Amino acid sequence: MRKGKVLLVGAGPGDASLITVKGLIAIREAQVIVHDRLVNLDLIAQASPNCQIINVGKKPNNHPVPQENINQILIDHALMGKNVVRLKGGDPYVFGRGGEEAESLALCGIPFEIIPGISSAIGGLACAGIPVTHRDYASSFHVVTGHMCQGNEPQNWQLLAQLEGTLIVLMGMTRQEEICQLLIEAGKSPDTPAAAVMYASQQKQQIAKGTLTTLKDEIQRKNLHAPALLVIGHVVNLSEILSFTSSQIDISQEVLLQAI
Ligand code: SAH
Repeated sequence: MRKGKVLLVGAGPGDASLITVKGLIAIREAQVIVHDRLVNLDLIAQASPNCQIINVGKKPNNHPVPQENINQILIDHALMGKNVVRLKGGDPYVFGRGGEEAESLALCGIPFEIIPGISSAIGGLACAGIPVTHRDYASSFHVVTGHMCQGNEPQNWQLLAQLEGTLIVLMGMTRQEEICQLLIEAGKSPDTPAAAVMYASQQKQQIAKGTLTTLKDEIQRKNLHAPALLVIGHVVNLSEILSFTSSQIDISQEVLLQAI
């Protein structure tokens, strides 16, 4: 039997209309969509009525589906000859284990393709008025995970504290206070601007701003929680003048269908 193809598609930072044209076409043509919890449901609504939708974000008992099972779901459906879209938040290769999924497909000889997406780490912050680089404030940016899975080396905060560039932490909300403290202990100024951006790029986006010292109080005051980006560096102050109200585009609009 003909093998199906698996497309690893980046859904973008949250706002459904920030997906790529190629990604949206892939969703509309998919026979099976395997998606994460963070993916905007307006994108899933673009699937054809016959498309099988599999949510691997959370099982009913609230445990995420193990990675091996996700890999197997992709392989099994491709072997059945289905065209599968693996829809992942942001960019498929920025955390979220997209690399492992592609590896397992490659090892099984399943045809696959990557359709990149706008990562929340860059595009999400842009939507909150924070440019990750700026000629006057940051000539590099560093994206790290705040969540360490068992067996992994902890992040080298000592080293990260020495970098002048913008530091962006994904999956860092539960350890936010500890991370800021570690950076201060490693020599970063306690007054370094820092922010948390929740639901970046979406209408419900919220931002808490402060310094490495005060961010925890601001997060508490505004009741921010995951999914959120932590960003540390002087570019945070630019959000005072660079934040904007995003124009809303409904991706189900007929006009957009015609555009594509
Ligand atoms: N591949 C994704 C990241 C997956 S890791 C990307 O490129 O964006 C998941 C983490 O990304 C979350 O814990 C959070 O830190 C961040 N994240 C993803 N979408 C977000 C959003 N809309 N707002 C804030 N943080 C987000």
